[in-house]
Amino acid sequence: MTARIIDGRARAAALREQVGTHARAFAAAAGRPAGLAVVLVGEDAASAVYVRSKERATEAAGMRGQVHRLPADATQGSLLELVERLNADAGVDGILVQLPLPPHMDADAVIAAIDPDKDVDGFHPVNAGRLATGLPGFVPCTPLGCLMLLREELGDLSGLDAVVIGRSNIVGKPMAQLLIGDSCTVTVAHSRTRDLGQVVARADIVVAAVGRARMIRGEWLKPGATVIDVGINRLPDGSLAGDVDFASAAQVARAITPVPGGVGPMTIACLLRNALMAAHRREGMTPPAGL
Ligand code: NDP
Repeated sequence: MTARIIDGRARAAALREQVGTHARAFAAAAGRPAGLAVVLVGEDAASAVYVRSKERATEAAGMRGQVHRLPADATQGSLLELVERLNADAGVDGILVQLPLPPHMDADAVIAAIDPDKDVDGFHPVNAGRLATGLPGFVPCTPLGCLMLLREELGDLSGLDAVVIGRSNIVGKPMAQLLIGDSCTVTVAHSRTRDLGQVVARADIVVAAVGRARMIRGEWLKPGATVIDVGINRLPDGSLAGDVDFASAAQVARAITPVPGGVGPMTIACLLRNALMAAHRREGMTPPAGL
């Protein structure tokens, strides 16, 4: 079997296009553009690249993007003050604090300070609780993007066996919640899981979010499984690899996301989608259906 390659770039481009159309309609109806504020603390090179691409994508979608930069030695108090200002700013619909924060800062406290209704990353405990209890709220962008790719590939996910490898608050746990919401039978694996290969072998859907290059082998997969590779790992030669060994997995899977070009582009597109949703809710307008 040779797997179909799931084209995250194309799916993300289509979503961004849709968001752009709705964002322009929102601006016309509300008399102001939807606004997304991104906060960057310090000079981490990878974070700076992510923030620049989020800013560009926000503007391209017809929303107002603003980036707030604080020095690496900024105090936690100054960051919390900035978050409070953005919470109170009527033109800001979404707030994203780029992680990781410098080690002297408490990321949990900073996330908890964001107004849950502006928490477009979906990391606030209120939004995690809403997701777990099936209430409307903000869903973290990466797992939301994975779910969109899975639905497009497989249609109805109901009754399928899914394995999520990784249990972080950012990817693994919300991914598992979303799959439960779509009526999958979900197993969550992590570093203490015994015989990961056997756990993976029974899954129709495998979502890998570990951060270890090529650790999931094609031989582990059930023939015809659909594989979503969230991992982004920098190899010694500078190239990128996912958590799945793409060459062997593509021989066994029905469909697989590449790295790069799979989940990554969906993350930013879903961020724009969440910001647009936030803007509608804050203006008391019905959010666009089908996004
Ligand atoms: P974390 O480091 O927070 O979590 C990694 C998870 O993998 C943990 O739950 C850990 O288990 C588990 N794990 C570690 N080693 C093993 C192992 N040998 N077997 C099974 N499970 C293991 O990472 P994130 O969730 O933040 O990110 C995961 C990957 O996804 C990274 O490569 C990251 O770069 C990428 N990523 C990509 C994004 C995108 O836009 N495409 C966005 C976000 C992340 P335990 O809990 O027991 O320690």
